[in-house]
Amino acid sequence: SAGVVIIGGGQAGLQVATSLRQGGYGEAIRIIGAEPYAPYQRPPLSKAVLSGEAGVDTVPLRGQVFFTDNRLDLVTGRRVEAIDPGSKTVTAGADTIAYDHLIIATGADVRKIPVPGADLPGVLYLRGLDDALKLKEALTTPRNVVVIGGGFIGLEVAASATKLGSSAVVVEALPRVLARSTAPAMADAIVRRHTEKGVKIMTGAGVARIEGEGKVSAVVLSDGTTLAADLVVVGIGVVPAAGIAKAAGIDTDHGIVVDPLLRTSAPDVFAIGDVARFPTRFAPRPVMVESVQNAIDQGKAVAATILGKGAAYDAVPWFWSDQFDMKLQTTGLAFDIDETVVRGDADSLAFSVFQLKGGRVIAVDSLNKPADHMIGRRLVAAGAQLRTEDLADPSYDLKRAAM
Ligand code: FAD
Repeated sequence: SAGVVIIGGGQAGLQVATSLRQGGYGEAIRIIGAEPYAPYQRPPLSKAVLSGEAGVDTVPLRGQVFFTDNRLDLVTGRRVEAIDPGSKTVTAGADTIAYDHLIIATGADVRKIPVPGADLPGVLYLRGLDDALKLKEALTTPRNVVVIGGGFIGLEVAASATKLGSSAVVVEALPRVLARSTAPAMADAIVRRHTEKGVKIMTGAGVARIEGEGKVSAVVLSDGTTLAADLVVVGIGVVPAAGIAKAAGIDTDHGIVVDPLLRTSAPDVFAIGDVARFPTRFAPRPVMVESVQNAIDQGKAVAATILGKGAAYDAVPWFWSDQFDMKLQTTGLAFDIDETVVRGDADSLAFSVFQLKGGRVIAVDSLNKPADHMIGRRLVAAGAQLRTEDLADPSYDLKRAAM
């Protein structure tokens, strides 16, 4: 039998391989990854590895011996160019590789900024290890950094750059940072801390162009403001790497469309991680979720399905971000929120925001409050109905409520 072929040696691809072997799968498992590295963690690339608090040696997810011991056939530096669901094969260079089950775990690519000057040297992006090494190198000398995009990656890069002695300005087009992912009260607290640490955050600020002679020297905003910059980092989101699936006639809708078992429209072809658009009871419509949690849990879920023990994917979404002395943790997906409750002091560096819809807790953001986060996951999973005055009362025993 042809066994399993996994396209993409990232967080999700490695997880499905690992869970298959742990579950007793006996056939061949091939992981084909485009990057020249064995699977590694991306989160530290904008945090401890970028700021120098952790070495690059800490990023690999598994050592070489793990792949040998588990008979995982890992090919790096190889891009799968085509999928043929009819013959159940994929093509990579001169090779045609057959599969019984195919898992597409190709992740996402950075969204490029479509403004003049975007190709100038000194305009960088951050997705992979190579990007991180380039950025780290650029930050060995103090710089005037302009970060375009006030999402997690942008804010983490601004914090890491500041720690290394650079000055950072974050430019966000929307009226506030972290608009897609956190409650306003939480975003405000994060902005306050960045400002105290010397980061300048500009919201409602569109970028008109990037300027420079041979290398970047400034970012010009739509209102004409010119920001001096000898390094620009663009963090304006990602585009799911769904091209090969689309070309193969597999249903896509920005990402690869999957059913509750994470199956694509092609027989025995699954999609997981950042590239998958999946239905979930935690959102009113199918979503893509870019997180380690989602990559891992979907990898486990597909392995279970291939092993004949599958069930609808139902994991609670959660995420974290580290910026300066802030550990932000979120759980749930904040769609159509109609009530927001702050628990603790929103002017401090330790509090949580509970977001409700129809009286149910559907998302919780916690700042330096890991216990609230853990309870939050249970409340979100249960769709718990709690009174807002109880949620807001620090003496109210949330843990018991979550039982
Ligand atoms: P990836 O890890 O991106 O892996 C996909 C792999 O597939 C890539 O190596 C790619 O090169 C390869 N590939 C693509 N196309 C092909 C092809 N045709 N053939 C072969 N290989 C191919 N998440 C959190 O939860 N918390 C965090 O704090 C956090 N911080 C992050 C910081 C950074 C800088 C980045 C970039 C991401 C961060 N994330 C974080 C998100 C998290 O890393 C991703 O959600 C996760 O890596 C997704 O896993 P994946 O396997 O779907 O994709």
